[in-house]
Amino acid sequence: MTERERRPVVGITTQTLEAIPDQLPRCWVMSQRYVQVLVAAEAIPWVIPLLEHDEATLRGIYERTDALFLPGGVDIDPASYGEARRPACGRSDPARDWTELLLTRWALADGKPVLAVCRGAQILNVAVGGTLYQDVAVERPDALKHDQFPIGGRRRDELSHDVRIAAGSRLGRLLDAAVLPVNSMHHQGIARLAPGLTPVAVAADGLIEGVELVPSDDRFVLGVQWHPEDLVDVDPRMRRLFDAFIAAARAVRR
Ligand code: MN
Repeated sequence: MTERERRPVVGITTQTLEAIPDQLPRCWVMSQRYVQVLVAAEAIPWVIPLLEHDEATLRGIYERTDALFLPGGVDIDPASYGEARRPACGRSDPARDWTELLLTRWALADGKPVLAVCRGAQILNVAVGGTLYQDVAVERPDALKHDQFPIGGRRRDELSHDVRIAAGSRLGRLLDAAVLPVNSMHHQGIARLAPGLTPVAVAADGLIEGVELVPSDDRFVLGVQWHPEDLVDVDPRMRRLFDAFIAAARAVRR
């Protein structure tokens, strides 16, 4: 196996960091945690700039990658799924929405593996025709508290609620579990699931927290609403999501 086959190139999208006057020009940034966990799984990480409307350059990057990783981040502009912005919808990043929706559609069309976390799972759903809750607490007042953000000393690896894992799903096979405790750092969520996606993890309030392609489709496409990259030390099974993603990228590369 060549080095390229052993360690596939994984594209990781970024987020716009607005300029801080007299300190910092406008930047593209991403949490180190995703990169570190993917490198531990033997990926070569390729952090992708948000060159909005420069489709040719983005395509050039895409063609050099073997798989796509979609990280967490700010809210998705509701215009992406044909809705008007409501007051509870937070800040969005148009360059990031544009870049990720395009990369996701390309990867799905080509059968490149996709692993998507939190906002990433929402992008995946929107990219293929689904919609989101702009704010779960406002639109689903009966829901669990999902916005357990790590403030006031709380930790990113704090387990907030369980999800039920669908038997026979890729996620179920990977984790070998029917119920999984997860962290929960999101205030948006999947509302209408896109056709072509199937729910594979669901919270007790019915919120969809894990998606895959329909069972007849064996391309590696997995989105989870929790943050497995923050849980690999407290629950080593979470590493299997990254390992399986890289194994799929390796297989596609060959
Ligand atoms: Mn949650």
